[in-house]
Amino acid sequence: MNCLFCKMIKREIEPDVVYEDDHVLAFNDINPQAPRHVLIVPKKHIATLNAIEEGDLALVGRLQYTAAKLAREFGFADDGYRVVMNCNEDGGQSVYHIHMHLLGGRRFTWPAG
Ligand code: 5GP
Repeated sequence: MNCLFCKMIKREIEPDVVYEDDHVLAFNDINPQAPRHVLIVPKKHIATLNAIEEGDLALVGRLQYTAAKLAREFGFADDGYRVVMNCNEDGGQSVYHIHMHLLGGRRFTWPAG
């Protein structure tokens, strides 16, 4: 399977890792949109949010849990931060292995562009 994030998980490509456990890998985005921009990726390959199954619920919750944990570690949990999951073309998804963007260190506007 030609998946960029699977290659990172297998270390065929070396990511700039900020957190790892048995289920998720988190690394710095190559094109940061904020002072801190981390991608939190499940080690299981799931192409889009639409492919999540009931058995994946704990894994998806772990992405959110990891985002909040990292936000605390990075020191912006109280000021605030943004998490984003893009789905398919209109959602702006470019890598087809689900991932949560954690963005922090600046103020964000709403609605998203
Ligand atoms: P999406 O658009 O699918 O929601 O997000 C994909 C993210 O992956 C983008 O923010 C993009 O900058 C990031 N990205 C794409 N290629 C690489 C890469 O080779 N290394 C890293 N660290 N991030 C990447």
